[in-house]
Amino acid sequence: MSVIYQPTGMAREYSPYALNLYIGCSHRCRYCYAPHTLQRAEGDYFGKPAPRKDVLKYLERDLQKNIYHEQILLSFIGDVYCDNADNSQTTRAALELLSAYHAPVAVLSKGGKKMLRDLDVFKTFEDRITVGTTLTFLDEAKSRAWEPYASPPEERLEVLRILHENGIRTFASFEPTIEPRESLRLIERTLAENSVDHYKIGKINHYKDADKWQNWRKYLLDCLALLRPAGKEVYYKYCLRCLAPDVPLTDAEKNPDEYIVRA
Ligand code: SF4
Repeated sequence: MSVIYQPTGMAREYSPYALNLYIGCSHRCRYCYAPHTLQRAEGDYFGKPAPRKDVLKYLERDLQKNIYHEQILLSFIGDVYCDNADNSQTTRAALELLSAYHAPVAVLSKGGKKMLRDLDVFKTFEDRITVGTTLTFLDEAKSRAWEPYASPPEERLEVLRILHENGIRTFASFEPTIEPRESLRLIERTLAENSVDHYKIGKINHYKDADKWQNWRKYLLDCLALLRPAGKEVYYKYCLRCLAPDVPLTDAEKNPDEYIVRA
């Protein structure tokens, strides 16, 4: 069984390869689509996930058989630093394996400071790793309402600063954007703190009639106005740019692989 796989559809915009270590997540985000995708009951998915059976054994087998030149995302399903059954020891062991085999990796988590326990392992990747977090709300009450068991916004911002100060390439995912004003405030904060190397900008999807909630064209223009003068690496996700087809974007701003890490 292969555990490193190539995502398809909208998931492909995240990364050419992905690896899911735990199937389930304790963060309980209101907008989470994973239970629907996996056809699992919410009560079953939003528990305290255990690592997948023999995942490290299968991971090593994949790494022995294949050479990965493009980034492997941890993870597309679940969060490798949520409140899981082994306190993310499988995450650490998987990272050690991936580093030993010189595989390029992207880690995306809302786990906050728990991520920093693996800072020493992140450093072993040198320029073959990027570590990021999802930024949704600066307002803590709103963050708690939408992502009740994920780390609070100030903690996520602090983690980005610490990672960046330690020489780790960082990224911030603005998918979902739920309230553009909150996302724009977060972009301003990260620019002021110079803590993010790469931005991924999208919007909320698969949630009621979210396409009609906001003026997404204006949001795209506001992001461009903030991020272009700052000279930042940005990828605008298809779900957002397709709602504003008249807004000209560069090839790099539309290419999901432009800023991935490679070996
Ligand atoms: S962190 Fe991701 S997988 Fe976990 S509940 Fe939130 S959206 Fe779902």
